[in-house]
Amino acid sequence: MKVTAIRAYQVDLPLREGTYTWAGGKSVSTFDSTVVAVDTDAGVTGYGEVCPLGPNYLPAYAEGARTGIGVLAPALVGVDPTELAVVNARMDFALRGHPYVKSALDMACWDILGKVAGQSVATLLGGCFGEGIALYRAITQLPPDEMARNVAGYRAQGYTRFQLKVGNDPDTDIARIRAVRAVLEPADVLVADANTGWTQHAAIRVADAVRDVDVYIEQPCATYEQCLAVRRHTNRPVVLDEIVDDLNMLVRAAGDGAMDVINLKISKVGGLTKARQMRDLAVALGIAMTIEDTWGGDIVTAAIAALAHSTPEAFRFSATDFNSYVTVSNAEGAPQRVNGRMASSRAPGLGVTPRMHVLGKPLLEVKG
Ligand code: MG
Repeated sequence: MKVTAIRAYQVDLPLREGTYTWAGGKSVSTFDSTVVAVDTDAGVTGYGEVCPLGPNYLPAYAEGARTGIGVLAPALVGVDPTELAVVNARMDFALRGHPYVKSALDMACWDILGKVAGQSVATLLGGCFGEGIALYRAITQLPPDEMARNVAGYRAQGYTRFQLKVGNDPDTDIARIRAVRAVLEPADVLVADANTGWTQHAAIRVADAVRDVDVYIEQPCATYEQCLAVRRHTNRPVVLDEIVDDLNMLVRAAGDGAMDVINLKISKVGGLTKARQMRDLAVALGIAMTIEDTWGGDIVTAAIAALAHSTPEAFRFSATDFNSYVTVSNAEGAPQRVNGRMASSRAPGLGVTPRMHVLGKPLLEVKG
């Protein structure tokens, strides 16, 4: 089987809540998502999606994804898309770095492999553990009482895990954490995600002030060394996210005992192939994971569900149903949240069918 053509589409995904705000006043209202279609000479087409969290979250931006896909596509035409390691080696040879650019193409090749094999991507990634996946809800940064009200509202919808966007003035962040914890039940999971927004001294102040609160601290500071200093100071469990972006960093951080949980985002690490490597290593190392992506619509949500559902439950800290955050659906068949949980599709591939009228005309098409 060979890749015969690659197309890229742009889709706007407006946020249901209006605006999503995190550390330092960064925010997004409409997500700029890119969907790729990979055609083959077997008549099977695979689909993937990449959606950065705006241009100032990670070194990734939507226009860059599309430009990079244009650079990679000629290197993939003629390649067998079911040979995922070969596909990834080709991409890494053609374009150094830029993992997010490769993510949607890798995802589409997994979709093809599943369709050809008659198996779901979740099955190909190891098989489904348990009936469903517990989801977390990201809580946009607002004054403490408004965040507590939002958490109570989402809790009423069935969510039991919440990730507060903090990483701003430390005193207000302490108030945010305390206000939200007060509306939760003991079994509920609370994460305070600073998204690199605290200086080291601010992070240590917050960590000290919440020593008696059942809360996880996520990515307190910008650098690994700062996060490690906070980790060695606090008695709270620590999640690392932005700075754990490849296998080598995971090995280093695990060796240092730098975290209890990692946040594994599919596009941050370059696609499902590399995310699976990190997932399997994290399981072997005894490190739990939040499994998700930077953002996305139905296709990304289907890929998250496949990776999360095929992760042993003890190591599946949380996952995200991004398709419920946005007002536009870019594919049919994606997992839908029920009572704060979702389940991976058992249909071949990712189990999604793009809504072509939503995707519109391709912005880019490369043929063999
Ligand atoms: Mg995070």
